[in-house]
Amino acid sequence: MKALIWPDKKLVKVCKEVGPKDWPKVGKMVKDMEEAMFEYYHHKEFGVIHGVGFAANQIGYDYRIFLMCSNNKDGKKKKDVRVFINPKLFMHGRSIETQLEMCLSIPDQHKEIQRWATVTAKWQDIEGKTHVERLNRWESKIFQHEYDHINGVVCLHKEDPHPICDIENCEVCKKGRFVYE
Ligand SMILES: [Zn+2]
Ligand SMILES: [Zn+2]
Repeated sequence: MKALIWPDKKLVKVCKEVGPKDWPKVGKMVKDMEEAMFEYYHHKEFGVIHGVGFAANQIGYDYRIFLMCSNNKDGKKKKDVRVFINPKLFMHGRSIETQLEMCLSIPDQHKEIQRWATVTAKWQDIEGKTHVERLNRWESKIFQHEYDHINGVVCLHKEDPHPICDIENCEVCKKGRFVYE
């Protein structure tokens, strides 16, 4: 199982919350997302790349779920996967950092993106337990990249001064929501 590739319309969908009736489906969705995240992807400039995050709509699941595996840098070490269900970014620090980002759904592209250095977020894990945590640096960037995904926003939407979006009638472009609230 591999990530859907841009311009797949599912990538610009604003995903829905996981409600009480949806919870029985979460285990299977997360398993599929993990499989897709740990696939090998090829980037024309950087060679084999590994997923460090993965959003549900990247394999067509229309839910507010994403994964983070911040230690998957070489694809070999023990992988700690964190599951973020119904995440909310409700606070961020003042400093902004720029980092090179890639996206498994947009192969061969890479882009410097500005993100908050620190975010405070709330989410539920796979057992339904609520977490409120501050995420820093690398984890903060991954969180924001994936949080964008479940709001239908991809890196291409952040091109200056206009998004490069080739999806017809893209809802995200219509709303112009490329920046954090
Ligand atoms: Zn991505
Ligand atoms: Zn768009």
